[in-house]
Amino acid sequence: MVLVYCIFDKCGNQRKKNGKISFFSFPKEPELLQKWIDFINDHNPTKMNEKQLDREKMKLCHMHFEKNQVVTKSNNDRVLIRNSVPRCPPGIM
Ligand SMILES: [Zn+2]
Repeated sequence: MVLVYCIFDKCGNQRKKNGKISFFSFPKEPELLQKWIDFINDHNPTKMNEKQLDREKMKLCHMHFEKNQVVTKSNNDRVLIRNSVPRCPPGIM
């Protein structure tokens, strides 16, 4: 099984069986992807670029999105609203 993790150094969230943390894949649209990467580089000491992105493993957890950017389904799965850009750096909430 692939170990999925949140790309922020300070966050350290990994996929756990209890499912309290949801992970979102990086967007495919180049402009949106760049916004995600810009946000990460603004707040993460380890800088990244698109070439380093491993979509299988590297995700952002739901903690970096505001509540109105995420829909929680009845089974507690979370779905990211399309075109959402992360806004919440780790360590603030
Ligand atoms: Zn995170």
